[in-house]
Amino acid sequence: MIPSILPTYSRAPLTFVSGDGSWLTEADGRRFLDLGAGIAVNALGHAHPALVAALTTQAQALWHVSNLYNIPAQQKLADALVEHTFADTVFFTNSGTEACELAVKMARKYWYDKGRPDRTGIITFTGSFHGRSAAGIAAAGSEKMTKGFGPLLPGFTHLDFGDHEALQAAMGDHVAAVLVEPVQGEGGIRPLPDACLKGLRDLCDTHGILMILDEVQCGMGRTGKLFAHEWAGISPDIMMVAKGIGGGFPLGAVLATEEAASGMTAGTHGSTYGGNPLACAVGAAVMEIVADDAFLAEVNRKAGLLRQKLEGLVDAHPDIFEGLRGSGLMLGLRCKVTNADVVKAGYGAGVLTVPAADNVIRLLPPLNISDADIAEAVLRLEAAAVAVKEADA
Ligand code: PLP
Repeated sequence: MIPSILPTYSRAPLTFVSGDGSWLTEADGRRFLDLGAGIAVNALGHAHPALVAALTTQAQALWHVSNLYNIPAQQKLADALVEHTFADTVFFTNSGTEACELAVKMARKYWYDKGRPDRTGIITFTGSFHGRSAAGIAAAGSEKMTKGFGPLLPGFTHLDFGDHEALQAAMGDHVAAVLVEPVQGEGGIRPLPDACLKGLRDLCDTHGILMILDEVQCGMGRTGKLFAHEWAGISPDIMMVAKGIGGGFPLGAVLATEEAASGMTAGTHGSTYGGNPLACAVGAAVMEIVADDAFLAEVNRKAGLLRQKLEGLVDAHPDIFEGLRGSGLMLGLRCKVTNADVVKAGYGAGVLTVPAADNVIRLLPPLNISDADIAEAVLRLEAAAVAVKEADA
C-alpha cells in the first residue's frame, strides 16, 4: 500500500524535534551537529533569535496579503538586495525551482520584446541542478531527472562542464541565455574556476547572450562573499536565489538588471505566496546579518579553519577520502568508499552531512557555526571514518 506521504524521498531513520544553532536534537534525545543545514538552507543555524523575533513579530501583525497590495517587508528585502548586489529589481518566489522558471521566462521574453522571438535557446551544463519543475529538469537534462517526464520543455543545450570548445561552438544568435551554477551543489561541489566564469561572461557579451547564474545553493554568504560570482569580479544579468535567503523559511528570488527584466511588465508573471510578509520579514532579517562585511569576513575565517581541519582528516584517512574541494563553507569530501556509507556512519557519530553526485559528501554548515563546533564536527567525522573502516575490515 502506498504510504500516506508520496514515497519520493529515501529518508534516514531520524526524527528531529528541535534545533539550536548548529545542533539538532532527535526525538530520542541524541544531539547531532548539523553540517547539512537543511541543504544550505539554515544559513544562520536553527532558532536564531533575530529570525525568530522577525517571524513572530510579523506573525502577530499580518500573515498574508496578496500581491494585489503593497507588502512593506517585501519592499524592504528587495531594497536590501538591490543595494547589495548587481541587481536593479527583484521578484520573490517560494523556492529555487520557481526562480528557475522565471529566469528562463525572463530571458525568452527579453528577446521576444527585442523582436527576436526565435532567440529561445538556453545553454546549461552537465551535472547541474536547477530544481524539479518543468524548466528545472529540462535545464539539468540528466536521465535521472527527466526519464519518464517527457515531453520536456524544449530549447535547452547541455554542455560538458569545462568543455570550452563545445561552449564556443554552441554560442550563437539563437541563444537567449547561458544558465550556470558558479559552484555546482548537487553535482558534487564543483566550483567553476573564476577564470572560466569571467570567460563565460566575455563570451556572453560578445554574442549578446544573457547570463543567468543559479546561486540557490552557493549564494547568500555560503562561499564567503554575499554571492559566489563576486569572487570572479563579474556580474550576471539574471540570478536565481533561494535556500539561505529565507534562513529556513521558504523564500526564493530572481534578481535582474533593469535591461534583462525589461520584458516583465504587469501581468507577465505572478505568485500567490511569493514575497509574502512572513517570508520577507525573515529574509530581511537574514540579509541584515549576512550582507554585513564583518559577518562575511568571519565566514571566510571559519571556512579556513574548517578546510585546514578537513585536510588533516583527508590526510589521516586516505583509504576513506580522496580529497577536499569547494569554496567557503560549501565544501565537498570526495570519498573512496561509497559516500552514502560515510553519511550513514556520520549518523552513528552524531554528525549530519549530505551526499552529492560524484561520490562526494557535502558540508554546508550554518554560516555562523562556532569554532568549537567546527572542531567537534571534525572529531565526529573522524569517528565516522573510523567506523566505515571497521565495518569494511
Ligand atoms: N538550484 C540549485 C543550485 C539548487 O541546489 C536547488 C535545490 O537544491 C534548486 C535550484 C531548487 O531549489 P528548490 O528545491 O528550492 O526548488
